Amino acid sequence: MEAPPYPTEVAEAPLGLDPRIRRFRCDDEVDTFVVVTERWLVIVDTHSTPGLALQLAEQCIGPGDAGRLLVINTHADYDHAWGNQIFSGPEARYPAPVIGHALCFERLGGGDAVTSRAKMEKEQSGRFDDLVLTPPNIIVGDEGLTIDGGDLTLTLVHTPGHTEDHFSIWIPELRIVLAGDAAEQPWPHVDTPEGIAQARASLVRLQELDPLRVLPCHGDTTEPALLDRNIAYLDAVATDPALPIEDAARIAGVTVTDLDPIYHEFHADALAASASLSHGR
Ligand SMILES: [Zn+2]
Repeated sequence: MEAPPYPTEVAEAPLGLDPRIRRFRCDDEVDTFVVVTERWLVIVDTHSTPGLALQLAEQCIGPGDAGRLLVINTHADYDHAWGNQIFSGPEARYPAPVIGHALCFERLGGGDAVTSRAKMEKEQSGRFDDLVLTPPNIIVGDEGLTIDGGDLTLTLVHTPGHTEDHFSIWIPELRIVLAGDAAEQPWPHVDTPEGIAQARASLVRLQELDPLRVLPCHGDTTEPALLDRNIAYLDAVATDPALPIEDAARIAGVTVTDLDPIYHEFHADALAASASLSHGR
C-alpha cells in the first residue's frame, strides 16, 4: 500500500535539555512540547488531527495525570490546534482545560477554520475526515496568563505577527522560550503588512527576556540567536520588497539549495506584504 502524502506519526524528539521539557515531532510538519511540572502536566499544541493528538497524549500522559492536565494552543493554525477534540468536547479522551487567546477561540469556532479546513481537505484528501474543529475552553486576552506549576512557571506572552492570536511561553526558571511560530528557522511566516512590524516587535519582546534556549515549533533548533536572525530577516524584507532569496538565506545561515520549498512560499508572502507596506508609505 502506498504511504499517504502526509505525516501519520508522532514521536518524541529528545531535546537533551532539562528532562521536564519534552518535545514531540510529527515528521517535518510540526513540533509540540510537553512541560512536566510538579503541579501540572502542560501540553503545548495538539498537532493537526485527532489521531496525532491521541498519539501525543498516549506518550506523555501517565496513569495519575488525568487531574493535572492542561493544554495550551499557541495559535489556531491547523498544525497546532486541530487535535483539540482529544482534550475538549463530547468525545474528549483526555478532558482538560484548553487555554487559548480570544482570537484563537474565534478562529477555531468561526469561518476562518472552516475555510482552512476546506483548503486542507483538498490538499490532503481523507486526512481530516475525523476532525471536529474544537476551540479552546479557557479564553485569555492579550495580557496572557501565568501558570504556577510549583517548580516551573509558564507565562503566556502575546506575540502577534505570524497570526494575531499567537502566544509564546516563557519559563523563567529554565530561561526557556517556547516560541510557537513567532520564531522559526529559517524564517517565520508573515503575510500582512502590519504582520511584519508586529512579528518584529514580538521577537524583540522575546529577546528582552534574555532566554538561554528558544524552542520553535518548526526548524529544529534551540539557539536563542534564532531571534536575532529572524529580526534581521524581517528588517531586510521590510527594507527591500525584492530581497533575493539568496540574501534571505544568508541572513538565516542556510543555503538556498537546503531550503524546504515551503520557505520559498513564505518568502514570497513576506515580500508581497512588504511591497504593500512600501506602497502605503
Ligand atoms: Zn505552525
